[in-house]
Amino acid sequence: MSLDLQGIGMTSPRTRKRMAARLAEQGISNEEVLTVMRTTPRHVFMDEALASRAYEDTALPIGFNQTISQPYIVAKMTELLLAAGRPGKVLEIGTGCGYQTAILAQLADHVYSVERILALQKKAKDILWDLKLKNVHYLYGDGHSGWADYAPYDGILVAAAAPEVPEALLQQLAIGGVMVIPVGENGGPQTLQRITRTAHNYKFEHLEPVSFVPFLPGKD
Ligand code: SAH
Repeated sequence: MSLDLQGIGMTSPRTRKRMAARLAEQGISNEEVLTVMRTTPRHVFMDEALASRAYEDTALPIGFNQTISQPYIVAKMTELLLAAGRPGKVLEIGTGCGYQTAILAQLADHVYSVERILALQKKAKDILWDLKLKNVHYLYGDGHSGWADYAPYDGILVAAAAPEVPEALLQQLAIGGVMVIPVGENGGPQTLQRITRTAHNYKFEHLEPVSFVPFLPGKD
């Protein structure tokens, strides 16, 4: 596969720079996150027909009834995850098209990414390889169980909304680690939560209303 990494017109570096400036206006303040958002092509993760809309602040379809997360949400969740410093190991649930994965891969030592739709996982893997992001490990599975083999994780980012935080994910969070997850019933209001594991407990912070696709059971 050959990717148009640089982009022209609506997918150009200038358009991306404007997107990053908008993110700063919306309150994203972590410079490293803003830099990575400015330099990572988003248009290569979507169908050509939608590429010209890649830098709008909106979620867009990626097939299989799923969506690529909105740039603001990707930046916000990443910033929240990095609050405790650069993470060594990050677990991501919901690889999707791989855009959030690409952002995380540049800000953590290793990313472990779980996806329940095989075709999406394969596509994401190819694009990340072309982007030379090789510190990403992929699992085709149900994110409800996390990925026990590499636990504990310094950061866990969940890209689909669950009615409650899966127990396995709480268990796989390192002490001092941070999880960012949208919580809410399917079709109902959802809240972005940040959960920090302390020596003996978990601290829950309810942050802002969000709108994610549902966290589904099993593999497709
Ligand atoms: N950050 C991704 C978000 C994709 S949408 C992107 O920007 O492309 C959420 C993703 O979570 C979908 O790909 C969906 O298939 C996946 N997902 C939903 N429930 C899951 C589960 N139980 N385990 C693993 N992945 C899941």
